[in-house]
Amino acid sequence: MEFLLSIPYPVAVLSVFLFGLCIGSFSNVCIYRLPKKESVVFPASHCASCNTPVQALDNIPVLSYLLLGGKCRSCGEKFSAIYPSIEIVTALLITGVFFKFGISWEFLIYAIVCPTLVVITMIDYEHQIIPDRITLPGIVFGLGAGTYLVGIVDSLFGFLLGGGLFYLLAILSRGGMGGGDIKFIAGAGALLGWQKVLLVIFLGAILGSAIGLILMAAKKKDRKSLIPFGPFLAVGTLITIFFGDELIHLYTALVAQPI
Ligand SMILES: [Zn+2]
Repeated sequence: MEFLLSIPYPVAVLSVFLFGLCIGSFSNVCIYRLPKKESVVFPASHCASCNTPVQALDNIPVLSYLLLGGKCRSCGEKFSAIYPSIEIVTALLITGVFFKFGISWEFLIYAIVCPTLVVITMIDYEHQIIPDRITLPGIVFGLGAGTYLVGIVDSLFGFLLGGGLFYLLAILSRGGMGGGDIKFIAGAGALLGWQKVLLVIFLGAILGSAIGLILMAAKKKDRKSLIPFGPFLAVGTLITIFFGDELIHLYTALVAQPI
C-alpha cells in the first residue's frame, strides 16, 4: 500500500468520502433486499413503484437524489430521504475511520464493519431481525479480523463471552433476547476482544434504557412494547470502534484511583 502514501491528504480524504457514498448506496440495496431474502447483486436497482430500472446516471449517490428532486424519473414516485441519508452517514463513518487509522489494515477492516453496522441498525429497526446472511459471515470475519486486531486468544474469548452472556440472557428472559442479537454480539466479541465486547454491551444497555425511558415518557411506547436491541448494540459497537481505548483507559483510571 506504499504508493497510496504519495497521494496528497485532502485528495485521499475526498476519495475516501466518495468511495463511502458508493458503499452507502450498496448498503441501501442490502437494507431493502436482505430482509426479503433477495439477491443484493441481481437484478440492478429499479423503482419500487413502477419497476423501471434505474439508469446509471440516475444512480449516483446523493447527487441523483438531489437532481431528480427525490422522485423516480419515470413515475414521479417520491423516494424516502432515508436513502441519501444512509449514503452520507456511511461516507462520514468511513471517512472517520480513515482519519483515525490512516491507510492500514484497520482502515480496511472497519471500512467493512461500519457500513455493516448501519445496515444491521436499519434492518433491525424496521423488521426486528438481524439476518443470518449478515451475522454468520460476520462471525467468520470477526474471528479472522479479530485475530489480527487483538490476537486469536482474545478474539475467541470475546466470541465466547459475548455469545455466552447473551445466550444466558435469552434463556433467563424467555425470548426477550433474539437469536440475531446473540450471533451479532458473538461476532462483535470475536472482532473486538473480551474487554471491548463488555463495553459494547454496557453502551448498548445504557443507550437502550435511555431511549426506552424517553419513549415511555413521551407515551410512544409502553413498558411491554418491544424495542429492538440490535440498533443500540450496533451504535455501541461504533462508539467502541472510535473511542473504545479512551473509554477503557478512563474507566481503569477512575477505578484504579486510590480512595
Ligand atoms: Zn417509478
